[in-house]
Amino acid sequence: MDRFGRVHNYLRVSVTDRCNFRCVYCLPAEGVTWLPRESLLGFEEIARVVRVMAGMGLRSVRLTGGEPTVRRDLPALVEAIAAVPGIVDVSMTTNAHRFAGQAAVLKAAGLRRVNISVDSLDADRFARITRGGELASVLAGIEAAIEAGLTPVKLNMVVMRGENDDEVVSMARWAMERAPAVQLRYIEYMPFDARWHQNVPASEMRARLAETFGEPVPLSARQGGGPARHWQLGPLVVGFIAPITEHFCATCNRLRLLADGHLRTCLAHEDTPSLRDVVRGGASDDQLAAVVRNIVAGKPAGHLAEADGGRAFEGIMTQIGG
Ligand code: SAM
Ligand code: SF4
Repeated sequence: MDRFGRVHNYLRVSVTDRCNFRCVYCLPAEGVTWLPRESLLGFEEIARVVRVMAGMGLRSVRLTGGEPTVRRDLPALVEAIAAVPGIVDVSMTTNAHRFAGQAAVLKAAGLRRVNISVDSLDADRFARITRGGELASVLAGIEAAIEAGLTPVKLNMVVMRGENDDEVVSMARWAMERAPAVQLRYIEYMPFDARWHQNVPASEMRARLAETFGEPVPLSARQGGGPARHWQLGPLVVGFIAPITEHFCATCNRLRLLADGHLRTCLAHEDTPSLRDVVRGGASDDQLAAVVRNIVAGKPAGHLAEADGGRAFEGIMTQIGG
């Protein structure tokens, strides 16, 4: 628990900062150097951090990145985390480019659910946004996830004005045909370092959906303490993650283990000590737990970004894990 009484039972783990896409809202076209391999936490180190945190109340772990599926032997990590006493939910966020061939193996290893990023259903635009991604392989990944029972598959769409906001309605129509195995979440663009893109407020997205499908029906409180607010739209559950215009800092239950071992309590800004250095320095489990407790105690009240100002988010999304 932090000093504001927020309870943290959810950890996102960025298993690698590397990625086979270079989405325009996530990475600049050039000039990013990947972390050297020895800087990344090893699987045993990740599993140990998870075990120590599970002893303090951690229950859910989500693997992310960068692109988690490019890390070799990922099923072994899923299996190790799923086996930690106290962990009840292991999930993953992926661009699904390589997922079709991995879905069944990951499910067998203990993965329960998957979120898949898809920002456009137009192949040319998709390739532009991801800087080279192939829509067909991602759609195959979505079908494979449904087939493997990694449901509900939550599709994540980052909405940017003038770039893909004209697909808010068509994406919902596409997802409706696959409901309830699929849910759709619209994500407000978060400004990193520079404001590369224009945000579309969640309220505007909801209004556009209402024009076509009728008023969405608000569903009760956030599911599992997560950031999305959910609405029923015909057969489809839609979520809005609106960190800028409807921010949810006051109820934030998440911690983030970065690819290089830093433990971030806020996605937006923060400089915290590296758990990797603590682990590699020979700390006992009790000492590691004390460091974690200390970092969580220092969690800031909230981020400082606004739609047209404030402080941009800091760092590189692929290291932080989104
Ligand atoms: N590579 C995987 C993927 O794309 O799903 C996992 C990592 S990615 C960093 C995690 C999530 O962060 C994705 O849903 C992505 O769309 C989202 N994301 C990345 N940069 C963002 C930004 N600037 N604003 C909002 N969402 C962002
Ligand atoms: Fe890679 Fe995911 Fe970032 Fe796109 S959003 S560049 S797929 S990490």
